[in-house]
Amino acid sequence: MVNRMESSETLRNKCAACFKQFNRMEHLVEHMRTSFHSVHEPICTVCKKHCRSFESLREHLIGPLPKLECKNIFNVRGCRFCLTILDSPNAHRIHQERCQLSNGLTARLANLGLRDNATVDNTYSRNPQIVALACKMVGGGTDGSLDYCGRVCVIDEHENIIFHAYVTPPVQVTNYRYETTGIRPEHLRDALPLRQVQRKIQDFLCNGEPNWRIRARGGNARILVGHGLDHDLDRLQVEYPPIMIRDTAKYPPLMKTSKLSNSLKYLTQAYLGYDIQTGVQDPYEDCVATMRLYMRMKSQVHRREEYPLASDPQNRNIFATAPWRQNELERMSPEELLAISRSDYYCWCLDRSA
Ligand SMILES: [Zn+2]
Ligand SMILES: [Zn+2]
Ligand SMILES: [Zn+2]
Ligand SMILES: [Zn+2]
Repeated sequence: MVNRMESSETLRNKCAACFKQFNRMEHLVEHMRTSFHSVHEPICTVCKKHCRSFESLREHLIGPLPKLECKNIFNVRGCRFCLTILDSPNAHRIHQERCQLSNGLTARLANLGLRDNATVDNTYSRNPQIVALACKMVGGGTDGSLDYCGRVCVIDEHENIIFHAYVTPPVQVTNYRYETTGIRPEHLRDALPLRQVQRKIQDFLCNGEPNWRIRARGGNARILVGHGLDHDLDRLQVEYPPIMIRDTAKYPPLMKTSKLSNSLKYLTQAYLGYDIQTGVQDPYEDCVATMRLYMRMKSQVHRREEYPLASDPQNRNIFATAPWRQNELERMSPEELLAISRSDYYCWCLDRSA
């Protein structure tokens, strides 16, 4: 009897999400205040452990120090790209073949050549709500180290090119970075001036909405997908509100356990199963990779809950600092604490109901 009580006492102080153990209940409550566990975190299908990122879930499943019970099951029927565990080895084989994508670039090269005309083409996608953008930078400044956009591409969610252009930077190009950009002086000679590209992209993204009026939902402005978009937009001199941006370099589940960004090359390899940026880099290829990563993250099935973000005003009291609620929180079970905890980032699965 005593033993059972002791063990239930330790269980009581175990985080229901990440399984961390605490000596005292108040420490668990403290942990919950700062961890923002939620249904949107990557979760191990075997033991139900919540991880902050897919990278830490990968470590949990594959190693170097995996949880053995989970690893053994994952080895037999876990998908190494999306990290889900299938019901049978056969279902796993079929799933993983579909989950691994191949580089769509070669099939599109002909298409790319034809559409290299710097016009916004609406025949392919009439009114896309989600678009991906990527740039390739050439070098300016005395040592060629300053980035200037030399080439830009925008695609829709079906990977059709909406806009693709070489761009003439506002300064003298001192390094074309040909080995990676494939850009030569003649490409930029008659290219579009940055100012014109800037306006085209700005208008296309806003889609008739003035920047200040863009809201997360219910407007005409388009969702913009990309990798490291701050830099791209800065170089294009395009201003766009963060609520409309889905950046694969900044989405917490796709970040490193150290909370730094992964490279797009790595993400494409690890999550989509193919290589990009192997020689001369095409911005279309980057657009496709980010769009595919976005679509995959968006298709995650997470439980619907009211006010899913810790920052929603309705959640203000949940783990608020008001000390009088401490007692109340300490009386709750770890599961109850987890049930009221909310995410501190916007999970892309929420775009499905947008
Ligand atoms: Zn935890
Ligand atoms: Zn989610
Ligand atoms: Zn596990
Ligand atoms: Zn998969």
